[in-house]
Amino acid sequence: PRSASAFTGPFSRSALQRLLSSLAILEQREGKLNHGSLSAITAAKSIGGPIHGFIAGSNIKSVAEEAAKVEGVEKIIAVDNAAYEKGLPENFASLVVENIKKGGYTHIIAGHTAFGKNLMPRVAALLDSQQISDITAIESENTFVRPIYAGNAIATVESSDSIKIITIRGTAFPAAEIQGGSATVEDGVDPKSEASAEWVSEDLAKSDRPDLATAGKVVSGGRGLKSKEDFDKIMQPFADSIGAAIGASRAAVDSGYADNSLQVGQTGKVVAPQLYMAVGISGAIQHLAGMKDSKVIAAINKDPDAPIFQVADVGLVGDLFEKVPELTEKLKST
Ligand code: FAD
Repeated sequence: PRSASAFTGPFSRSALQRLLSSLAILEQREGKLNHGSLSAITAAKSIGGPIHGFIAGSNIKSVAEEAAKVEGVEKIIAVDNAAYEKGLPENFASLVVENIKKGGYTHIIAGHTAFGKNLMPRVAALLDSQQISDITAIESENTFVRPIYAGNAIATVESSDSIKIITIRGTAFPAAEIQGGSATVEDGVDPKSEASAEWVSEDLAKSDRPDLATAGKVVSGGRGLKSKEDFDKIMQPFADSIGAAIGASRAAVDSGYADNSLQVGQTGKVVAPQLYMAVGISGAIQHLAGMKDSKVIAAINKDPDAPIFQVADVGLVGDLFEKVPELTEKLKST
């Protein structure tokens, strides 16, 4: 009989790869593919095996066709039904599970977004699998890396489940480009299960500035801004002078200076822009958890011992009410 070691060569790897297949759960809002979904496709590519995308909602033909153009995707499975338009996990989870069962996938991957975080643990529970959350790297088809304790420790986890249910950190996987692919688009299974919850309304913060989660530059304000009026007066022209998105610390959000959709950190958004500027933010670990992977970090704080300076590449010690308007004027004139 062949020894076990005979299965460890390159042949066995490619044989195994043939058994792998991934389903990327694609999130759409008003006909536009979400950035995190495109990152989920990139993650699926590093697992190996064929990649299918799954999308559901009302009038999704054009967004399904857009997803079909992503290179490396073989098939888009689309379910056109207005009942799934808002991505309510109560009926979306069983919809996804039916399509997983039909396709026989080994890996199900979604972005670690509000939608993914809401949906995937329910999918995992329905399949009796272990949820693997917020991964930042894939070491092999069953070994994944994920930050724990607000990014203070990195865990490498191995799963023996036959179906792996994974959410990925968007900042750790670049978004796949919508070009070069020619996937087929097929109708998926629709169990038409009833949702036990009803979509009532949404109240979205609208802004002409870049989206916080994907912006190349972010300027964030903290409790040092002192009031909502000052936050707006100081941070808005500053952001506009360099075309940045605005973020905020939790203390600024809790004090009512900024909308909670702007919160950066452990319980807010995780961002990794080219440039992150922290203004009047002390640098608590829960805040760092949301921005420490930024390429360049700059901080303005009047306290030279503020912990933010330990992670900053560039620091300016001074009163933000003086320094930020001065900097804004200089940046505007360059
Ligand atoms: P402070 O810590 O009060 O710092 C204000 C800073 O402004 C100080 O460093 C001060 O020197 C400086 N300053 C004041 N006046 C001026 C001036 N005129 N000019 C220049 N500098 C000035 N926090 C987050 O941000 N995001 C999260 O997601 C988050 N999640 C959390 C989750 C949990 C479970 C817990 C327990 C906490 C969480 N926090 C989070 C809160 C976090 O611990 C801190 O309390 C928060 O980040 C502090 O915000 P801040 O830096 O704006 O305020």
